[in-house]
Amino acid sequence: MYDTVKERIKFYKSSPWRRKREEILKRDNYECQECKRNGKVSIDYNRFNIDTAQERKHKYLDVDHIEELQNRPDLALVDSNLITLCIKCHNKKHDRYQGKKKRWNDERW
Ligand SMILES: [Zn+2]
Ligand SMILES: [Zn+2]
Repeated sequence: MYDTVKERIKFYKSSPWRRKREEILKRDNYECQECKRNGKVSIDYNRFNIDTAQERKHKYLDVDHIEELQNRPDLALVDSNLITLCIKCHNKKHDRYQGKKKRWNDERW
């Protein structure tokens, strides 16, 4: 169902997901649950005015599927499978820090 990037992008652009994402961000108090668990203080939003803070939160936070979308499409919009993560923790979870893509390209060329 969500096997291709195209299908996943379509999902992430859909209004049910946008609504759900907002719901989860609110549920998690606009805090990265991973940072919270580790007792890390995330970005200090209080320094910004409301509008800017709202904007920044949206830039810094992702809603992650605990069970990946392509593995469990049935859990795509299920609250218990969704968690608020900051970009940093989210990248870490998906191992995007390793620069694999770059290395892969290097090998390829
Ligand atoms: Zn985090
Ligand atoms: Zn994720």
